[in-house]
Amino acid sequence: MKEDIHIFGGGITGLFLAYHHVKKGNQVTLYEEKNTLGGVIGTKKEKQGLVELAANGILLTDDIKSMLDEIGLSPVFPKKASKRRYFWTNQKLSQFPISILSGTKLLYSIFLKKLKFDPNLNFEEWGNRMFGSSVTKNIIEPALGGIYGTRLTELQPESIFSKWDGRGQSTIFKEIKKHKKRTYGTVSFPNGMGDLVTHLVNYLSPKMNIKTGVSLSNVEELQNLTGAVRICTSLKNLLPILEPILKQDTSPNLLTISTITRFGETKLTKKPCFGVLFGKNEGIHALGVLCNSDIFDGRVTNSDNSETWIYPKLAGMENDFQMYSILEKDRALITGKVEEPKAVYKTTWEGVFPAYDKNLYDFNQTLDQLETEWKSKGLDIQFYGNYRKGIGLRSIFESTMLE
Ligand SMILES: Cc1cc2nc3c(=O)[nH]c(=O)nc-3n(C[C@H](O)[C@H](O)[C@H](O)COP(=O)(O)OP(=O)(O)OC[C@H]3O[C@@H](n4cnc5c(N)ncnc54)[C@H](O)[C@@H]3O)c2cc1C
Repeated sequence: MKEDIHIFGGGITGLFLAYHHVKKGNQVTLYEEKNTLGGVIGTKKEKQGLVELAANGILLTDDIKSMLDEIGLSPVFPKKASKRRYFWTNQKLSQFPISILSGTKLLYSIFLKKLKFDPNLNFEEWGNRMFGSSVTKNIIEPALGGIYGTRLTELQPESIFSKWDGRGQSTIFKEIKKHKKRTYGTVSFPNGMGDLVTHLVNYLSPKMNIKTGVSLSNVEELQNLTGAVRICTSLKNLLPILEPILKQDTSPNLLTISTITRFGETKLTKKPCFGVLFGKNEGIHALGVLCNSDIFDGRVTNSDNSETWIYPKLAGMENDFQMYSILEKDRALITGKVEEPKAVYKTTWEGVFPAYDKNLYDFNQTLDQLETEWKSKGLDIQFYGNYRKGIGLRSIFESTMLE
């Protein structure tokens, strides 16, 4: 039987969910408060080349491949040379920034040590116990910092790995194996990530109702709708909507992220690479940098070099000039020389995603309870987004798939 589905929020979460429902033959209406769709995802075509506004790529799986085929979009695969990924530790670039002894300890922790989360520990404290301080500082801190937009002290393992069994009965290896799906690396599209939004919207538009300029402001509005309701707004916009009904002492912590795409003459590293991840206390303010023109073809209009630097909100970086000068200092530490950029483009997203910490874990449990409570009253209302089952596009795609 055809179902009536009302989706609020036309970012990539709302579009992915709409795609799955349309494929199932359901009657879908999408409500978006802005006049454009795609949320934070988008690509600008500047004189020097492409500038991504948020995500630079999506991890390709078989399910995502099928969706791309269906919407008529071909992925652009990374160049072979960009396989190399660097860590910046102890003032130098390294592909494997730990000793053989720490490496052995890491293997032991993955294959043999029982996986036990502790809600009283932040990721740094837990990581030091689980893997040792060298692995935590030199590998986990830079790797997770680049993905989750903050430092390990602001994160918690059970919030990030919420699907894993962390009761002390399993191992990391067993959990990875249990949840593993075949992946084909990170891909983009000929005109950047904006292509994904454009193709999804072109595919969906004739098959469903899209209402832009419509904003959800409170939960009561939803009870008058016939059919199922799916809330896909950003967490930042969801909080004021839920405030009258959630009487929580603690609220999720929202993070602010800035990305600066920099076009210049020379490359950041001697050999091509995907990018560099930075740990804490290494003299660099950025969380990571992506070497766009090393990764994908078609990112620059001439032979220039393109990089995207990712920064958390930092004191002393309140204006663009301060940010650009910090970027050049960060860059000079790696290259050993100062180079005038040809162009820089900055995007700042205030409160764009939550810190994956205890508050978020508790908040998601409250949302689960709310969904169950509504269900018992005959209301089919559910929440989707990058704060529910994972921050990345692949996790969002999988969380919106229907049974
Ligand atoms: C800088 C940056 C880099 C990233 N890089 C990557 C990457 O390389 N790979 C990857 O996989 N992921 C990446 N991500 C994560 C990924 O891009 C996001 O998690 C994802 O795009 C979030 O999509 P969303 O639809 O949940 O939220 P949003 O994009 O915020 O969309 C929410 C939508 O809801 C609408 N809305 C809000 N309130 C209302 C309301 N009251 N009523 C109606 N509509 C409303 C908004 O206007 C918006 O269109 C990155 C994120 C950032 C910020």
